Amino acid sequence: MAYDLQLSSVYKTYDNGTPAVIDFNIDVDKGEFIAFLGPSGCGKSTTLRMISGFETVTSGDLMIRGKRVNDQLPEKRPTSMIFQNYALFPHMNVRQNVRFGLEVKKMPRAAADRKVDQILEKLGLGAIADMPTSRLSGGQRQRIALARSLVVEPDILLLDEPLGALDANLRKSIQNELKLLQRDLGITFVFVTHAQSEALALSDRIVVMNAGRVEQISPPRELYTRPRSQFVARFIGSNAILPGTVKGDEDGIVMLETAFGPLAGANRAQVDAHAGREMSIVLPAEAVDLVPADVAEAEMRANFGSNTIPCTIETLQIVGHIMHMVVRFEDGQTINVEGHEDKYRNRLKAGGSAFVAWESGSATVIDS
Ligand code: ADP
Ligand code: MG
Repeated sequence: MAYDLQLSSVYKTYDNGTPAVIDFNIDVDKGEFIAFLGPSGCGKSTTLRMISGFETVTSGDLMIRGKRVNDQLPEKRPTSMIFQNYALFPHMNVRQNVRFGLEVKKMPRAAADRKVDQILEKLGLGAIADMPTSRLSGGQRQRIALARSLVVEPDILLLDEPLGALDANLRKSIQNELKLLQRDLGITFVFVTHAQSEALALSDRIVVMNAGRVEQISPPRELYTRPRSQFVARFIGSNAILPGTVKGDEDGIVMLETAFGPLAGANRAQVDAHAGREMSIVLPAEAVDLVPADVAEAEMRANFGSNTIPCTIETLQIVGHIMHMVVRFEDGQTINVEGHEDKYRNRLKAGGSAFVAWESGSATVIDS
């Protein structure tokens, strides 16, 4: 079966010479929720506009459902786009705004009315169908923009930071609605955001972009726990990054010599980890075990080998039964660690010392 969307070696260089997208490759299945995540200016919107047809592709192949669409006009593509500012027409009411897309497609009036009513109903907009959009709240305007882009029944919905204009609470509830709607419709969503929490909450897979390049494409949990580059390790989640020199590589576990002695992590990306290569261990906060200073060294070694680093507990806060701690290594870097209160009660305290420890397989080695 053909993929819903494929980008193969896609490049974009603007007329002024700005290389905005460099060698973008992805195969997207029908019904997938994909997020493009990265800092401002990294090429997210440019990529989305190339998919929609509002921007030309400089080189490479852009395929929708197995057909090359590089030269196809936007209105001929089975895509629909929602912009950050929604671009609603202020002089039209809700119904007219939603019907606009169908008028462009010259759908007969009766059929168009039926479709508009259906989508207004589905998105809970029936009661305000005859109100001018200028009088509505941010959440309602967001929903109208969604209705307007869904009424044309696209195969692929493109959303460029669609929740950016909403306050935090509303954003959370619309996030949930979007996810439910996407499951219900079964269509492909490509969602641009610079907010990692949004990408992590919504997506099947996240494309992390940096300066025009794709750094990593992974499901949220893998991105969080198995970053493959320095950029991703710093940008996503809460990771300690421990540089060193490779001593050996055995069964996918790489041992580095570091400022904290020999430390190990898994070689998940199967990079060539030959002795002497400069690499780093990335230790996600989720993988950290805190060993209180009262635990015997032999016991600690038995559990974690040489993967132990002395630290101080900088802050400690108990919320419900979870302890939230910021721990600091001797080199100054800090990570946020969480643990159950039962496990650490009376054994860890703010300002006290402990050891950060982990099992080799739960940390990852990446290039330095
Ligand atoms: P993002 O959406 O990730 O913030 P963009 O895709 O908007 O990033 O921009 C990527 C790069 O391309 C930036 O350096 C930006 O300044 C540049 N750029 C975007 N649009 C244009 C344009 N129309 N002409 C020239 N350069 C542009
Ligand atoms: Mg953008």
